[in-house]
Amino acid sequence: MNYKTNLQWKGLRRDGPDKPRPLADAVLRLIWQKHQMSRAEIARKANLSRSTVSEIINEILPLGVVAEIGEGPSKGGRRPIMLEFQDDSCVILGVEMSGTHIVIVMTNLRGHIIRSESADHPVRKDPQGTRELIARLCENCLNHKSRNGRPLLGIGIAVPTPINPADPNRISKVVLPDWCEKLELSFLEDQFNVPVMIDNDANLGAIAEQWWGLGRKKNNFAYIKVSTGIGSGHIINGEIYRGSNGTAGEIGHISIDPKGKKCICGLNGCLATIIGGNAILERVKELSIDFPDSSLVGKDNTISLVWDAAISGDPLALIIAEETATNLGVAVAGLINLMNPSLVVIAGELAHLGDHLLEPLRDSVRTRTLISSADSVEIVTSELGPNSVAIGASTMVLKTALNDSRRIPRVSA
Ligand SMILES: [Zn+2]
Repeated sequence: MNYKTNLQWKGLRRDGPDKPRPLADAVLRLIWQKHQMSRAEIARKANLSRSTVSEIINEILPLGVVAEIGEGPSKGGRRPIMLEFQDDSCVILGVEMSGTHIVIVMTNLRGHIIRSESADHPVRKDPQGTRELIARLCENCLNHKSRNGRPLLGIGIAVPTPINPADPNRISKVVLPDWCEKLELSFLEDQFNVPVMIDNDANLGAIAEQWWGLGRKKNNFAYIKVSTGIGSGHIINGEIYRGSNGTAGEIGHISIDPKGKKCICGLNGCLATIIGGNAILERVKELSIDFPDSSLVGKDNTISLVWDAAISGDPLALIIAEETATNLGVAVAGLINLMNPSLVVIAGELAHLGDHLLEPLRDSVRTRTLISSADSVEIVTSELGPNSVAIGASTMVLKTALNDSRRIPRVSA
């Protein structure tokens, strides 16, 4: 099966005469959701005739993602043949590109990680080296024996910059100035012969929460990733909200202190200048004079070392954790007043702080929100772990394939 596609947002086009099959795709999604179903159950749930369901199943079976697995229990008549979604029939690669690090996960069709690869890299300064590293880590995953010969469905890539759905190759120069406004990742489509999809990292973190995490069954929630940079993804009425040109969710560039430090975006006192990675490390230096016994004094610190120190009770780190939670609370309160979500999920390295973050954050939010919105919102930390954005990138490919089964390679052909 040859996928020849252009790097584009929605229409990962495969050359060929196939027309869209919305009914078959709806049945495929239903089987994915229920794991196992008989043709009669599908007919009932999808409100289709038995003969239509049989025709659709005949179209779906050659894809290899659904298989007949034998007879199920009888409900009066003949025992039905059960159909089962084959979670392990294909693999997907999900890539997270952060400012300093690449993470790649190879997942099955249920978001389970089969293999992962990661490497530190100066992503901001070295675009070409980053592209080559992504390709190499993808190869490593695909060549690993755990793939077991399964076809690759596609590659999803999370990038730390806003993405305009109309032109995902073109990026703003604010976050990655050395990339000269071009991602140029389409070579991966030729190298691996599959569709490549790209989105902003916080949007994909939100998708991971919506499919596999605390955002399941929530139609309106916000996801905020706080690591070196800060971004947010917003699920509104069940879908990612992108805004008019894809830059929705830049919560890190809400100005908390108009007289504060200059931000990379040109504004003053953005949230990122107060709780972003560099700001945290500078604050450690400032406070070191008052806390000479702190485990952080005189060290080459990273943000995760600072949050680890807070968890172990280091007084300097605890002060910074509380300040960070309070400042984040100013932005989260604004978000809650504006959007009235039922859930706010905090992810990224800051989420390691757990209750050290959540208690002062909730206090900060409570004093700044309208009573009715504060009462109806839960503020939690993500439970999906450090690979959640890469899993979200893989989920974007899965979601796209379940919405258009023409993108699924026919394993049994
Ligand atoms: Zn800014």
